[in-house]
Amino acid sequence: MVKKPKIQKKAKKIKVAAKKQKAKAAPSKPRVFQTLRGMKDILPGEYKYWHFVKNKAENFANNYGYEFIETPILEETALFNRAVGGETDIVSKEMFSFTDRGGENICLRPEATASIARAYIQHGMLNLPQPVKFFYFGQMFRHERPQAGRLRAFHQFGFETLGDGNAVIDAEIIFLVYNLLQDLGLKTSVQVNSIGCPKCRESYKNKLVNYYRDQRSSLCEECKKRLVKNPLRILDCKEAGCEPLKEGAPQIVDYLCDDCKNHFVRVLEYLDDAAVPYNLNPYLVRGLDYYTKTVFEFFSEENQATGQKAEALGGGGRYDNLVEVLGGRPTPACGVALGPERLITKIKENNVDVPPLIVPDIFLAQLGEQARKKSFALIEDLRRAGFYITHGLTKEGLKKQLEIANKLGARYALILGQKEVIDGTIIIRDMEGGSQEIIDFVKIVQEMKKKITNGIAK
Ligand code: AMP
Repeated sequence: MVKKPKIQKKAKKIKVAAKKQKAKAAPSKPRVFQTLRGMKDILPGEYKYWHFVKNKAENFANNYGYEFIETPILEETALFNRAVGGETDIVSKEMFSFTDRGGENICLRPEATASIARAYIQHGMLNLPQPVKFFYFGQMFRHERPQAGRLRAFHQFGFETLGDGNAVIDAEIIFLVYNLLQDLGLKTSVQVNSIGCPKCRESYKNKLVNYYRDQRSSLCEECKKRLVKNPLRILDCKEAGCEPLKEGAPQIVDYLCDDCKNHFVRVLEYLDDAAVPYNLNPYLVRGLDYYTKTVFEFFSEENQATGQKAEALGGGGRYDNLVEVLGGRPTPACGVALGPERLITKIKENNVDVPPLIVPDIFLAQLGEQARKKSFALIEDLRRAGFYITHGLTKEGLKKQLEIANKLGARYALILGQKEVIDGTIIIRDMEGGSQEIIDFVKIVQEMKKKITNGIAK
């Protein structure tokens, strides 16, 4: 190797030192912030999809008698420990929990059912006529490994019925969601199972543990732990070693007590009568401890048909012991949660025709300072008259403003220039045909009411 002369080495050292000095002296550019990993902004361009889903879901809630409820995003961590279960993935691995400034252990909610049961007890809703039916829509947080369809901050909306143990409630919730998904342009089918009550599940758990204990060496590390802590979840495992084993595993339906069996049969009969397509899935267990009896998950039909592995669009079940576990009186209940992010992905994939958010009825274009001043009152008058109105108040040229009106799909443009201000008139331009007419300024609201009787996209 040829050695570099000493002088050259020295020069390099000086250069590096100078560079470092310069970097230190230069005013540092402010860091550009990003959303946290697994979290997303919902930008205006996306909003029509959100509006579509939320609006439809809220209409279903109103029609089926579910009342809106909103609970805080922060709750005591212990609520989910108790309700969802300390051994579940959600609680043991995925909670955003921390100690607050007051030393309390709190967390960002990972789901809403526990909060709703807490609210039901806290506000004495067991004294209301039963059942009490709730609808919610909000953000949830789980520290999962981000991947397609799996975020750390995501939304869920859901329907919960507390205070009634009748099987018709389970069927009604499944029926409602099936129809809602159809109205969103999604063909789905539902997978159903019963995981029994704590009594019959105990004997089943023993059988399951015996079965898997013999196969222990084939299980993944996680399932080896589950064998002790949460054996039902082994049936859910997608690992190559674990999944084929479930074929030979005992099935819970064979171990249901009479009450659980009858309940399940009745749910299925209601679904048959309502012509809801469902598949019995003996391996469906759901990941949360509070479930009893019926459990179900919704999948898009094309994923079912092609056998593609897909994330559920929504899921739920009965949770007859949750209210009691949280300190309330025994209260049977059933509910479902759906993920709008996953629904929107499917809606886009299926090219569902989603209406635009709002198309303005009127675009007000102005020219000159006088006209601009006169526009404020006019905008408010037209808004009060019930029109969707937008404007180009910050813009100068008429051509530019009409281009914007066109882009927004406005039905009419009103043009207020210097001449019109002097004359006490205003121009109405039909944006579709391009025809224009001059109207007395004072008559404009009346005139627009004649033209737009039903309004557009109201
Ligand atoms: P779960 O309570 O886990 O059954 O979730 C119910 C529904 O919420 C799922 O079927 C998804 O649509 C949605 N969901 C759950 N976890 C996530 C997540 N990490 N990211 C996006 N959506 C989710």
